[in-house]
Amino acid sequence: MSSLFPALVSGSTARRPALRFGDRSLTYAELAASAGALAARLEGRGRIAVWATPSLETAVGVVAALLAQVPAVPLNPKSGEGELGHIVSDSAPSLVLAAEGDDLPSPVRELERIDVGTRHAGGVVPQPPAEPDDPAAPALVVYTSGTTGPPKGAVVPRRAIASTLDALADAWQWTGDDVLVHGLPLFHVHGLILGVLGPLRRGGAVRHLGRFSTEGVTRELNAGATMLFGVPTMYHRLAEALAEDAELAKALGRARLLVSGSAALPVHDHERITAATGRPVVERYGMTETLMNTSVRVDGPARPGTVGVPLPGVGLRLVEEDGSTLASYDADGTPTGSYDTEGNPTGAYDGESVGEIQVRGPNLFTEYLNRPDATAAAFTADGWFRTGDMAVRDADGCVRIVGRKATDLIKSGGYKIGAGEIENALLEHPAVREAAVTGEPDDDLGERIVAWVVPVDAPAPGLDRELADHVARRLAPHKRPRTVRFLSALPRNDMGKILKRALPDALADSRP
Ligand code: ATP
Ligand code: MG
Repeated sequence: MSSLFPALVSGSTARRPALRFGDRSLTYAELAASAGALAARLEGRGRIAVWATPSLETAVGVVAALLAQVPAVPLNPKSGEGELGHIVSDSAPSLVLAAEGDDLPSPVRELERIDVGTRHAGGVVPQPPAEPDDPAAPALVVYTSGTTGPPKGAVVPRRAIASTLDALADAWQWTGDDVLVHGLPLFHVHGLILGVLGPLRRGGAVRHLGRFSTEGVTRELNAGATMLFGVPTMYHRLAEALAEDAELAKALGRARLLVSGSAALPVHDHERITAATGRPVVERYGMTETLMNTSVRVDGPARPGTVGVPLPGVGLRLVEEDGSTLASYDADGTPTGSYDTEGNPTGAYDGESVGEIQVRGPNLFTEYLNRPDATAAAFTADGWFRTGDMAVRDADGCVRIVGRKATDLIKSGGYKIGAGEIENALLEHPAVREAAVTGEPDDDLGERIVAWVVPVDAPAPGLDRELADHVARRLAPHKRPRTVRFLSALPRNDMGKILKRALPDALADSRP
């Protein structure tokens, strides 16, 4: 019935748990019945929206849309009416799926509404529409996180979902016996595609916490869950809690796999978690437009601060501003050297030059909805997707992201400096709770390094100089922040990503 979810039709998985949200759960047979019944109602409809609360209904609704081959647009219930209005008019859904009792705000309320049922008996599986199985067909339209500008709708084809999930299964030895602890929202790639569709494709189970909590993580890992997916802000909370919570340390130590993604995991948090639990955190790197590009492999090298190697099937290269390739990988993932703009080899990678990550492969989106200009600009002439993320390749062949080209690459005194390593250095200082680094125009240097710091306590006089000295000592004199600004919190979006463009306003609002 579905090539994306073989476990929905296999007799052997029928009685296995598939989804649990709070105290409500579905087996595979119950999910097949619920989603199958809904799919029959969706057949032939145009794009649909899903009111993506962290609920069983959202999961059933998305699976039903995939069964019916109707593209689904997950809506963030926490978005303001302005953003929802933009997404609804941009994606023009024919209806919205919601849970009974959901109160929809105005731009969504105007749509035809279907309430998702989750109480269809297992056993007799209603036959959803026959699936011609077009791998290029749009499966989802997922809006980007809006970290650098207004969210854009990425059209994600079915093959991208299948290929990314299978590549992760290979890198993580992810099987149907894994049980995932999930505490993320369901309207982005991480929480929806990896966190819900991933376990369902493997035939394993998801236990959603509703809201992330360290107690919930401890409880589920103690009850047999094997893996945890989180964003760096969650791992930061775990790292802080571990200092006083031996139960949590024991539970995390039992997990087969702790995975972090969506933003860079600070090295300091990673090291504290490993020290307290004995477990590494597996970092993977992806985007709405590309799903997953790289991951640390469970059978491969890993050092805190790296995002591993290209996943099977993903082509990846680091490209210089003039279009020449600094470093690349063979089809089988072996690191290779540098090439000029014509593709002629020019020697070995120097191990430290920063280039833009460009990717290609079956994991990619097809286009930005209604944005042919942005789609065209996102690809090179030879068909690679420009991620806008800057990285180096370390001696183990692992990709180390230094930051985003637009906001995190500081050109100062003739150097190209990544904000990420300065942020990591600041976070190692005991007086620093949170840190972000940006560049600002400077007559002498071109740009000067500015550190935005949330201190643990009210900053003592001279802390700014001490932090600048700490960075210069830890890294290099030219990486010393010229300005240190203290504020009470960093502006972040729902995924915990730092909104660097909002820092000046956050500073104006805060009196630490
Ligand atoms: P927008 O494109 O709307 O500005 P966004 O880029 O934050 O928002 P997403 O597609 O959700 O939207 O996020 C992808 C980006 O997240 C990547 O381009 C990268 O900058 C960052 N990212 C994801 N995983 C990692 C990671 N492990 N380490 C560092 N950065 C990461
Ligand atoms: Mg982006």
